[in-house]
Amino acid sequence: MDYEKIQFKAGLEIHQQLETHKLFCNCPSELKDEPHEILIKRRLRAVPGEEGEVDVAAEYESLKNKEFIYEGYKDSSCLVEFDEEPPHNINQDALDIVLQICKMLNCKIVDEIQVMRKIVVDGSNTSGFQRTMLVGYDGKLETSKGIVKVDSVCLEEDSARKIAKNDNSIIYRLDRLGIPLIEIGTKPDIKNPEHCKETAELIGMILRSTGKVKRGLGTIRQDVNVSIKNGARVEIKGFQDLRNMPKIIEYEIERQLKEIVKQEVRKANSDGTTSFLRPIPGAGRMYPETDVKPIIIDNKRLDKIKLPELIDEKILRYEKQGLSSELARSFVKSGFELEDYDYKLDKTLIASVLVEVPKDLKARYNIEYEFKEKDYRFVLDALEKDKISKSAVTEIMLEIAQDKKIELNKFEKVNENKLEEEIKKIVHENKNLSDGALMGIIMKRFKNTADGKLIASILAKYKNG
Ligand SMILES: [Zn+2]
Repeated sequence: MDYEKIQFKAGLEIHQQLETHKLFCNCPSELKDEPHEILIKRRLRAVPGEEGEVDVAAEYESLKNKEFIYEGYKDSSCLVEFDEEPPHNINQDALDIVLQICKMLNCKIVDEIQVMRKIVVDGSNTSGFQRTMLVGYDGKLETSKGIVKVDSVCLEEDSARKIAKNDNSIIYRLDRLGIPLIEIGTKPDIKNPEHCKETAELIGMILRSTGKVKRGLGTIRQDVNVSIKNGARVEIKGFQDLRNMPKIIEYEIERQLKEIVKQEVRKANSDGTTSFLRPIPGAGRMYPETDVKPIIIDNKRLDKIKLPELIDEKILRYEKQGLSSELARSFVKSGFELEDYDYKLDKTLIASVLVEVPKDLKARYNIEYEFKEKDYRFVLDALEKDKISKSAVTEIMLEIAQDKKIELNKFEKVNENKLEEEIKKIVHENKNLSDGALMGIIMKRFKNTADGKLIASILAKYKNG
């Protein structure tokens, strides 16, 4: 497909939950599986006159007979979620995270933040609107296909979580309502479906580099706006997995080439196709939130916000210290910092004790054990003092995980001279055996007490002698 020729245009909108308490109250930002403790029922009240837009009104008409049921918790939903108390002061930590991300995206930052209400009529918000505020604009991302400009960065509240729905009512849970969300929108500078995935991955990497965003399913949502020559803008929502993103966009483009396309919101399906979700809501459904004072952002505040090291830079730095690309990646993902482990040991050995061996134990023995800092230190100290060979690490950590009393004596590293003597003897006693068979016998004998490489190099000296 010649994407330039069909005048392919795409922009991304990314929503990511921040790892802090809620935006306008102190309730925790945690989704709960347990049964709810509070339940209230509401019908949509008459909306105030400011709302204006026809499409919103139309949607309101279609929903006004529905009953909305909200489930909450005593310890994690307060009167703010129920819209029975005005919003508290804005969560400053959430705002600082967004300011930091704005800096990372090279955005201009507004000097005064005005919180706005965006009308939401589907009941996913108890107040009938979502609070949102513009923080940054005019940023840029450097990608392999050139600059992708960042249009806007907003801080907003997440909506309530839809639990169930029937003809008469919709049940929402309030645990998600009010979780701080950053919304990043790019300009339609994306060149093709693969480039869209690359840009989404880049934004995801930048967000994770702060260490202050939520992780896991549903904590980040990507929407893609896509159009071709003479076509309408179509928004695709609900990408489950970035790997499928190019395929879904390719299918959508094929559809747009075949059909006359209306401006609408479509849902990304798991088979790569998209299906109609709803019309694109009109603009101008926003008005100022008068319960929250404008927030001045001065240089003093901005100067205090430092840029974190990007995950990609950190991976490169660890690669330079000798870690393989794969190990560097999983090490960074694990959240450990190599600098915290001040040993003279080989960096790859340190990283594998911390990350690889626990993963290996899980895969091989199905052991789900959360190693503690002292466990890692116990193993690393023994290695550093040359008490054990690195071949003993897995066995020792297995015993720790099985809560066994570790007797380091049994893993004591064989002295190199002694090892050489023993190997010489074994070779002498087994003159008829092949090199492979000899290696097998020796490895078995020194399984946890000598390094395989050392054994192989000594054996190479004596095997034909
Ligand atoms: Zn609350």
